[in-house]
Amino acid sequence: MSPHSRIPGKISTVMAGALTACALLAVELAVPPARAAAPQQRVQVAGWYRMMLGDFEVTALLDGTHPFPVDEVMTHATHEQLDQLLASADTPRPVEGPINAFLINTGSRLVLIDSGAGTLYGECCGHLIANLRAAGYQPEQVDDIFLTHLHRDHVGGINARGQMAFPNATLHISRTDADYWTSRDQQKLAPAFLGSMFDGAIESLQPYLAAHRVQTFVGGVDLLPGLRAMPSAGHTPGHTAYVVESRGQKLVVWGDVVHVAPIQFPAPGIRLKYDSDQDQAEQVRRQLFAEAAQQGQWVAAAHIAFPGIGHILARDGRYDWAPAAFTSWLPAPAAASAPAR
Ligand SMILES: [Zn+2]
Ligand SMILES: [Zn+2]
Repeated sequence: MSPHSRIPGKISTVMAGALTACALLAVELAVPPARAAAPQQRVQVAGWYRMMLGDFEVTALLDGTHPFPVDEVMTHATHEQLDQLLASADTPRPVEGPINAFLINTGSRLVLIDSGAGTLYGECCGHLIANLRAAGYQPEQVDDIFLTHLHRDHVGGINARGQMAFPNATLHISRTDADYWTSRDQQKLAPAFLGSMFDGAIESLQPYLAAHRVQTFVGGVDLLPGLRAMPSAGHTPGHTAYVVESRGQKLVVWGDVVHVAPIQFPAPGIRLKYDSDQDQAEQVRRQLFAEAAQQGQWVAAAHIAFPGIGHILARDGRYDWAPAAFTSWLPAPAAASAPAR
């Protein structure tokens, strides 16, 4: 006698159905054996991002990211304040510190603004040239390099094992920063933790100085058609932002106005130990935040999450960062797309 024969017919059918469902579920839950165990790749996508600014093509290049020790280097804030600001932006410690640079193709010149750290920050960084190549360019094609300042994470990338990493480029820097960071006398007067910044600048500039490929400028001068220096001293004595403009569209390449976006946008008074003049650096930060929010221009920043391009919003007495939306809309310049005759 089968076990089912003792169960009234209707109930027996329901139970049989349930048993079948269980059996199917068991089959579905069973994990099939791996046919080809794929090794994890542990390699990130190439770090470049592109947008058009009028007729200019702008390519953000990532040099690398590194843990940024906020408690050690941010000043005018308690550990608890930093905790609170990071928590409210859901930003875990250690804070990811990106190093961005920006390549501008004006149509007639290829211009690099900042160069990353090269070998000066170790394994994390120094990927700028690989990313520049991935973006379709070669270092030999760069005509001009403009540096926002001479800290290691901005100047280090110009030098490749003692040679010019960009062999055909002319290097443009503010005379004030050039004079300051190449002076051994100033190095003796500066706090000890800035010592490596002097060494890095002197070492990185050397091949360009030897080849007479360094030009200095003073103040807010026009440097190229569509590129103007904007003095923004404070972080360093000659810190310079660059205003890039084409067909009425404007991008301001800030350099080191902000180091940790989730901290300094809501609280611009929190400062950085590495600022040469902290009062002046804070004043510049507040002024550039206000200008960008009011004018609605694009901003490109060295240490905001890659690509570091976005807009500034002023809301309820605080500032916010609105990152650029990823775009696949990159119209070819009219001249380049016109059929040859
Ligand atoms: Zn800096
Ligand atoms: Zn920097």
